[in-house]
Amino acid sequence: MTTIYNLSIAANATLNMHSLNNEGGEGNQIQTRVVTIADSEGRLHSVNAISGDMLKHIQAEHLYYLAKGDADLPLCKACAIFDANRMSADPDFQQFLKGKPTPVQVVDRLLTCTLDDLEGNLVTQGNQSVPRKSVVEFGWAIGIPESVSTEQYFHVKYDPDRREIPTEKKERSGNLGQAIFHRPANSGQYAIIASVEASRIGFNDISQSYAAGVNREKRLKALLESLLYTFVQPSGAMRNTQNPHIVDVRGALSYSTAPAPAPLISPLNGDFATEMQQVADAMNVIHQDRIQVLPFGSLAELAQIMQTLIADAQPYTFTL
Ligand SMILES: [Zn+2]
Repeated sequence: MTTIYNLSIAANATLNMHSLNNEGGEGNQIQTRVVTIADSEGRLHSVNAISGDMLKHIQAEHLYYLAKGDADLPLCKACAIFDANRMSADPDFQQFLKGKPTPVQVVDRLLTCTLDDLEGNLVTQGNQSVPRKSVVEFGWAIGIPESVSTEQYFHVKYDPDRREIPTEKKERSGNLGQAIFHRPANSGQYAIIASVEASRIGFNDISQSYAAGVNREKRLKALLESLLYTFVQPSGAMRNTQNPHIVDVRGALSYSTAPAPAPLISPLNGDFATEMQQVADAMNVIHQDRIQVLPFGSLAELAQIMQTLIADAQPYTFTL
């Protein structure tokens, strides 16, 4: 068995012609997301990006499908229909809150659900303010400066009637008639980072103890599987006609087998994989062989590393 305390992935992914994340629309023009970032020399760049919220949503959806119908990965009533409010929208949980439970009891209750445990929640109903911090964390996927480009493309929904704008107001609001629109497509290399705090699976951060009856090993395996699927099939916006062309995914996966952070350096730094290994080498002098770094040169190699870990992994358990 391989014990995992913390696991990190840094990946440089080449995606073409996608529109996975947009700011919204102005008229018939859809605006892509653009962010300002600093490179390793401190120079500022404006680049296309996909929010961490979107990446986490993609991963959570893959986890939901893995957990659905699996008795070892229970879901609350709200997560069973992938409600974004998670347990807060579960009527049984709302009833439970009326009994004025303590924050420890609220978190223990959240831990009974696989998605509330692994993806987190913030309970504010019934004068509560009880957080469950997510076990999995994502950063934004950020376009690597000078390696990413956005273009706007013209499209038309053709109407044989060829009236560009319906004369009837009712038809216009009903999305009837011919419509023209501009939609962005982004192509380039993206820096992606993600992290898993495996030791915290099923762990109540307030009482500092593990909840009873949680299959922690099964939850870790499902979480790693959903993380792999996020790279294999990045869902998100506008996939019906702009399913991203995944050309390449390369980078490094690191993990620690006991309390120590798994080194993570952004692929915005071209030397990230080498530097992650160097950080691990230094940390392994403090605690021998506590950190492993596994580079991957393709999505196939990442899948190989992940499937080996999924077969063999168990989450680190704090001795209490
Ligand atoms: Zn839930």
